[in-house]
Amino acid sequence: MSIKVNEIFYSIQGESSYTGRPCVFVRLTGCNLRCSYCDTRYAYEEGRDMEISEIVDVVASYQCRLVEVTGGEPLIQHDTPFLITSFLERDYEVLLETNGSQDISLIDERCVRIVDIKCPSSGEDEKNDLENLERLTDRDEIKFVIGGREDYEYARTILEIIQCKSSRMSLPHLSPVFGQMIPHVLAQWILEDCLDVRLNLQLHKIIWDPEKRGV
Ligand code: SF4
Repeated sequence: MSIKVNEIFYSIQGESSYTGRPCVFVRLTGCNLRCSYCDTRYAYEEGRDMEISEIVDVVASYQCRLVEVTGGEPLIQHDTPFLITSFLERDYEVLLETNGSQDISLIDERCVRIVDIKCPSSGEDEKNDLENLERLTDRDEIKFVIGGREDYEYARTILEIIQCKSSRMSLPHLSPVFGQMIPHVLAQWILEDCLDVRLNLQLHKIIWDPEKRGV
């Protein structure tokens, strides 16, 4: 079984409730969306086919027990669920970052599935598979990338739906579009509305040059 891989690197987790932890990232090639603010356009095409065993060996060389499979969009490759299971079988803590357009039920529930809900400023909000909201488990997380007030209102509407439908989800993340949405403005909106969410700044872009790859 082979998967097209864009890059594998060791860094500090910059998003989600795992922020700040050392983590090995496996970035897979290809994405079915074209978000306006995408910062990983280089992953649309670039990469090379690797056997799952080879990927597992490269990750093992870092001696870190937290691994994240990301993209691009990892779930558009047929064998991604097998890669994730391979890590789980080796007792890794496994995170999957997915753009929310694909069915997450294909992925082993022992994996933490971090699901992006695309907001209007991405230009891809119509691709959200909102059935995923029903598929979330206690360990999964959802994230909204906020580019302005319209996105914030959209996120609030989805959060209201979730509160009606499910009590299982963990605290949602609201993340400002880097360089576009001023964090303190988003923070103020959250405080004004007493939203029980987590303001998520992309830590890796604060630590390193935001344009730098592989961090
Ligand atoms: S889903 Fe992610 S990788 Fe794909 S276009 Fe959007 S931001 Fe870029």
